Amino acid sequence: MSSQTLAIIKPDSFRNKNTGKIVDRILSAGFEITAMEQQHLSKKRAEAFYDIHSERPFFHDLIVFMTSGPCVPMALRKNDAVSSFRELIGATDPQSARAGTIRKDFAENVQNNAVHGSDSDDNAAKEIAFFFPSLQIRSN
Ligand code: ADP
Ligand code: MG
Repeated sequence: MSSQTLAIIKPDSFRNKNTGKIVDRILSAGFEITAMEQQHLSKKRAEAFYDIHSERPFFHDLIVFMTSGPCVPMALRKNDAVSSFRELIGATDPQSARAGTIRKDFAENVQNNAVHGSDSDDNAAKEIAFFFPSLQIRSN
């Protein structure tokens, strides 16, 4: 069934001029982009987005990274969008990511790992609302 996920082209990809190449991978994999916008996150917004990781040792550096330059959040649609996108991007640490995945090919390291992808349908809905509060969610 068609469903949604939230992707972010992270600041490392933006800085390395990989935005277009990553968008091409996403479209070639059959995703429909229903919303997309270049944004430069404030510390407050980045902390709110990654609130679930606030107790992790890497949290502070993650916020510095995510606010270091523009990023490109996008809402995506496809069958089984969440798992299909996680498959396309590969493991969190690019050293463990499968060949041909976005993180394998574009990530700098486990923190600067090129892209974000939601990890569940519930979080996808929350994350899409976080970046695109006015996006209408179609049911078909
Ligand atoms: P994912 O993005 O694959 O869902 P997590 O939700 O576990 O991974 O972590 C969120 C983000 O925090 C990662 O994408 C990465 O940018 C950063 N991160 C995760 N683990 C580490 C780590 N061990 N060291 C530094 N940064 C990390
Ligand atoms: Mg995650």
